Amino acid sequence: MLRLPEFTLTRPESLDAALALLKEHGDAALPIAGGTDLVPNMKHGLFEPKMVVSLADVPELHGVEETADGGLRIGAMTTLASLAVHESVQRYPVLAQAASLIAGPQLREVGTLGGNVMLDTRCQWYNQTYFWRKALGYCLKKDGTECHVVKGGKKCVAAASNDTAPALMSLGAVLELAGPEGAREVTIDEFYVADGIVNRDVRQGELLVAVRIPAPAAGHRSAYGKLRTRGSIDFPLLGVACSFDLDAAGVIANADLVVTALQARPTRARKAIALLEGADTSGEGFEAVIAAVAAAARKQCHPLPNIPGDHEYRREMVPVYVTRTLRAALDEGGPVHHI
Ligand SMILES: Cc1cc2nc3c(=O)[nH]c(=O)nc-3n(C[C@H](O)[C@H](O)[C@H](O)COP(=O)(O)OP(=O)(O)OC[C@H]3O[C@@H](n4cnc5c(N)ncnc54)[C@H](O)[C@@H]3O)c2cc1C
Ligand code: SF4
Repeated sequence: MLRLPEFTLTRPESLDAALALLKEHGDAALPIAGGTDLVPNMKHGLFEPKMVVSLADVPELHGVEETADGGLRIGAMTTLASLAVHESVQRYPVLAQAASLIAGPQLREVGTLGGNVMLDTRCQWYNQTYFWRKALGYCLKKDGTECHVVKGGKKCVAAASNDTAPALMSLGAVLELAGPEGAREVTIDEFYVADGIVNRDVRQGELLVAVRIPAPAAGHRSAYGKLRTRGSIDFPLLGVACSFDLDAAGVIANADLVVTALQARPTRARKAIALLEGADTSGEGFEAVIAAVAAAARKQCHPLPNIPGDHEYRREMVPVYVTRTLRAALDEGGPVHHI
């Protein structure tokens, strides 16, 4: 049986009180939202906080509201289950769909958007028990000096595995953070960095307060596609977020395509996006555009043997999931997954 290490649980009742606790206890403290990732990670000895600061009773982190400019502001403590069905979130199908496919139903009832945005990267050599990791000699990300994915590699390439991250990137989200130095805002694009040890530009003692998404255009179309071993619960083997605006003539503008579960940071498929931009979806040539977009995404995306699932198979699935997700966005369908 895996046991939790000893820790003190605190339940501050305001954002200031939570920030003060995190500042006072420094490295020894960690925030907890739903706990669906932090608790298993603590049982595996990946994190050993002496103090766990629950965000459950912090009112500033709760609530979903429409902003003055027609966008949405989503509190970090919004559960994944409520995000998936919230009426205002349905205007952004890619986000509602990504949330609906995270983990399983019970986990979505307690797991939060904030915890998902802040999720640790994953690797099959890291998300293991202490005993297992010790037998292997640990790895660069925790307690060791070697990477078992890239032999001789000096950088951790554990995979970004949070499904809302590519969805929010494709929607141009902005993160509201608060910390000991005050409040700041950062685009989600700038927030994620290509370092599997910590793939977030987060500072000591900082909390994610809310996520803001701009108003969708009238012709907004988007969808999320997810490949996973068991459709009922697993982390992504591949995640594809696709979003664009369609004008009255059926021409695509403001296209975005973000693929995740490859490396430490979700990947923007730039060449594929360039091919989508300005494409006439009503024209005869659109089938050829879809094929070219899928091929360009495959060329750019290189899954690694960092998470379970054969990486060459995952690469072959890139064009398949890009094609299906693009079609789903166009047809206002989705999500793309299997049961
Ligand atoms: C069986 C299983 C399957 C899963 N499948 C998926 C999946 O398919 N896709 C997926 O994306 N995830 C998956 N997860 C992971 C997890 O359930 C989700 O990512 C969930 O959204 C995490 O949210 P949480 O509130 O439980 O986070 P927690 O576990 O409470 O926290 C996660 C991390 O974020 C930090 N944190 C939390 N809130 C804040 C905040 N407001 N500010 C700063 N830091 C914060 C915590 O300190 C911790 O480091 C799975 C988990 C399990 C156990
Ligand atoms: S990618 Fe390498 S360093 Fe990072 S967790 Fe996996 S084995 Fe460890």
